[in-house]
Amino acid sequence: SAKEQGRNGYRFVTKEMGAKSRERMDLEGSLRQAIRDGELFLVYQPQVDTIDGRLVGLEALVRWRHPQEGLIMPGRFLPVAEETGLVVAMGDWVLFEACAQIRRWRDRFGLDVPVAVNVSGAQFRDGQLPAKVAHALEANGLSGPELEIEVTESTLIEDVPAAAETLAALKARGVLIALDDFGTGYSSLSYLHRFPIDKLKIDRSFIHDLSTGASNASVPRAIVGLGRSLGLSVIAEGVETEEQLQLLRDLSCESYQGFLFSRPVPVEQVDALLAALPAR
Ligand code: C2E
Ligand code: MG
Ligand code: MG
Ligand code: MG
Repeated sequence: SAKEQGRNGYRFVTKEMGAKSRERMDLEGSLRQAIRDGELFLVYQPQVDTIDGRLVGLEALVRWRHPQEGLIMPGRFLPVAEETGLVVAMGDWVLFEACAQIRRWRDRFGLDVPVAVNVSGAQFRDGQLPAKVAHALEANGLSGPELEIEVTESTLIEDVPAAAETLAALKARGVLIALDDFGTGYSSLSYLHRFPIDKLKIDRSFIHDLSTGASNASVPRAIVGLGRSLGLSVIAEGVETEEQLQLLRDLSCESYQGFLFSRPVPVEQVDALLAALPAR
């Protein structure tokens, strides 16, 4: 019987699964509430020029301030958000909040570099993304290029014709498109020219490998070359050391983000950064 099998591990497995799905259900319920009650907030990571350290952009990253558990990182709640479809409501909030913040920074500090927002697969396939982007821009008096949409390769290759159509609609509204975590996904070069992409983001796993010595620069070098031949800008993610930065300069990679320059920081810290910039 199942009870006897339990002693051999069967019951243990079902118990584990029960605990997991219970945790998932708890998380689902409280995430739904979190979106409604304003427990989500955005932090922003500066993107800077590899040569002169000039600010070239900011990436918005979502955080959850849970009333009991404290700060929860996206790695923990995004999988649940994606499975349950809650990621669409969450993404709507992120998109609008980022646009409202761009407007505030533009008014207070003359911000003139784009702010990037991550969009997950379900959000991208939602069909309403271009309309939602248009709404968020219009409601905040933005024209388009102030906002950058980050998508991953895997999101695009799932349905290439549909993705091309969505990207075209986004481009028509004037926003920039960045390909996130580039090099880790399908990496078929054959589709790249079909998509109206502005920027390639070299995944941080390749940057991490840079510091482990030897000849690990081949992937970043190839991506920089690809970007140049396609006329796209290239940014490296996850730069943590001076050594990595120097290697990126040697490769003529134009920009980077990473803990070396700054972790993702709350709005007030971006305020301070922008206030310290020379007048524009
Ligand atoms: P991502 O878009 O590739 O974002 C970069 C991640 O790398 C961020 O993690 C950032 O904090 C981290 N990072 C930046 N610099 C360094 C570094 O020098 N070293 C290391 N080790 N890590 C660095 P975070 O904020 O935990 O976000 C993880 C992922 O969650 C993001 O990866 C993105 O895919 C997703 N995500 C974050 N915010 C949102 C959002 O608002 N909407 C959606 N759909 N996804 C989001
Ligand atoms: Mg990103
Ligand atoms: Mg990334
Ligand atoms: Mg990622």
